[in-house]
Amino acid sequence: MALLQIAEPGQSPQPHQRRLAVGIDLGTTNSLVAALRSGVTAPLADDEGQVILPSAVRYHADRVEVGRAARQAAAVDPLNTIISVKRLMGRGLGDVKQLGEQLPYRFNSEGESQMPYIETVQGPKSPVEISAEILATLRQRAEATLGGELVGAVITVPAYFDDAQRQATKDAARLAGLNVLRLLNEPTAAAVAYGLDRQAEGVVAIYDLGGGTFDISILRLSKGVFEVLATGGDTALGGDDLDHAVAGWVLAQAGVSENLDPGAQRALLKVACDAKERLSDADAVEIAYADWRGTLSRETFDALIEPMIARSLKSCRRAVRDSGVELEEVTAVVMVGGSTRVPSVRSAVARLFGREPLTDIDPDEVVAIGAAIQAETLAGNNRGGEELLLLDVIPLSLGLETMGGLMEKIIPRNTTIPVARAQDFTTYKDGQSAMMIHVLQGERELIADCRSLARFELRGIPPMVAGAAKIRVTFQVDADGLLSVSARELGSGVEASIQVKPSYGLTDGEIARMLEDSFRKADDDRHARALREQLVDAQRLLEAVEAALAADGERLLSGEEREAIELQMGELRGLLDSQDVTAIERQSKRLSQITDAFAARRLDSTVKAALAGRRLNDIED
Ligand code: ADP
Ligand code: MG
Repeated sequence: MALLQIAEPGQSPQPHQRRLAVGIDLGTTNSLVAALRSGVTAPLADDEGQVILPSAVRYHADRVEVGRAARQAAAVDPLNTIISVKRLMGRGLGDVKQLGEQLPYRFNSEGESQMPYIETVQGPKSPVEISAEILATLRQRAEATLGGELVGAVITVPAYFDDAQRQATKDAARLAGLNVLRLLNEPTAAAVAYGLDRQAEGVVAIYDLGGGTFDISILRLSKGVFEVLATGGDTALGGDDLDHAVAGWVLAQAGVSENLDPGAQRALLKVACDAKERLSDADAVEIAYADWRGTLSRETFDALIEPMIARSLKSCRRAVRDSGVELEEVTAVVMVGGSTRVPSVRSAVARLFGREPLTDIDPDEVVAIGAAIQAETLAGNNRGGEELLLLDVIPLSLGLETMGGLMEKIIPRNTTIPVARAQDFTTYKDGQSAMMIHVLQGERELIADCRSLARFELRGIPPMVAGAAKIRVTFQVDADGLLSVSARELGSGVEASIQVKPSYGLTDGEIARMLEDSFRKADDDRHARALREQLVDAQRLLEAVEAALAADGERLLSGEEREAIELQMGELRGLLDSQDVTAIERQSKRLSQITDAFAARRLDSTVKAALAGRRLNDIED
């Protein structure tokens, strides 16, 4: 497998001049920018000494506010204050509307474009534009602190992000005036931050429980190379859910049952979040909500959040299984994300893996720090230093549609990227001059159960008999996880290709559902695949026999023979709708046997025709 070389050729730094590069953790809840300064890689602080920038954007009529002030205003101006915009990145209007039921925003209702827009006092804003405000704030902070223009940034994304979500993140960076050196998976950044490449070989689990998302990644380390073996997680699980659990408890205790308006809801969630965070360092905390006062103990809190921790552990087991290693083989566990400060989260993870997780680096900062280390290397500042190789994986299998509506996987899920795989296909019909390439993503056998990513056509295939053309289809996924597909007819060299940029991405729920489906329905699928294949074969046979009858039936067959063949053809046609794989297979065999003699006679006669008029000597030459 090809390894990605991070140090880019031709990007050597000028002597005595360091190229300014930063790492950015663009989080659902919080964002940070980090850089190397005086030999130490650390997050950069704002004027008030704060390193964490809450990922909140508030639109005023005449200006935009980003960060803490915006977060605080969320309760008073919920419609113009956008939080957790990362959840909307690269999503279509349909996906967002589903999520939107829990969100207080006004989305554009027209399906004029696939892009969702949020109506604000400054007009409609897309998730890409909103994220760009956060990135621009961090860029300005970095340029002010470092004293110069940035050559670029490494921006981290969840391992789960698909093409559309990665593309949306890149677009946001471009809007913010940032040159993206690379998108880096968050867990990989965390591993880089801990310098695990300098440790002994082993398998590392990265457990990242942030504000809105949970990611688990299993990496293998050997000789300074990270290989991502598997990723998994749950993008509907995070600190927010812990807040909701506490808020629900508060409402129950306070005896409040009526629906809260969005503002009141946020005020309550803020109280709950505050209590949760204080509980990480205390055995019990006082809570005041409206005119209710009460105490929440660590014990009660642990019981409230137990189901959520259990869900995360289930994802961990699954990812370990996917990666083909045993739990005992995991030699280090890295904790990432603010929610891993919760003591019962730490102890549950320690119990699962049978070892204490690494928590030395601030779990809020670890991803940005890793990204900054990576950015330094990409900017060409540590040449001569250790070379860093990083590998990531694709979350869902990529493939294309073949005859019979089947999904042919070209790159299986969890394959490390960058990767290029090619497979050869051929034409189905004589003289076929074009071929439709339908690119799909998913684990199921039938294309109807997979997600369509793109279609394109290869035209200008020279006319040949069916099966003679050789069309090589190449799938290529670059280091950022973006897919391009090309098709080339090898004889003539005609070529067509496409860069896959879906207008909107898969929701993580969809990814999870597609994976679950594929496991549950593996048996159904095998049957469906066998049936489709049998049908394609049967149809092909019927067409071939029909063509042969039309060409040579009169000449080479007796009336009886012809009738017998037509009878078997009729039988086979009658079975095509039956779903009965075995019967279709049996009848296909019968038809092909009964036509054997006919085929032999045709072959004979063509050979004779070819030989007619030629002398034996010519042939033996
Ligand atoms: P994201 O990656 O989603 O931006 P972060 O890693 O910044 O998220 O984590 C934010 C989450 O961490 C929030 O839900 C926040 O309440 C939670 N958090 C921060 N500090 C603590 C703490 N001391 N105890 C428990 N949770 C915390
Ligand atoms: Mg995070």
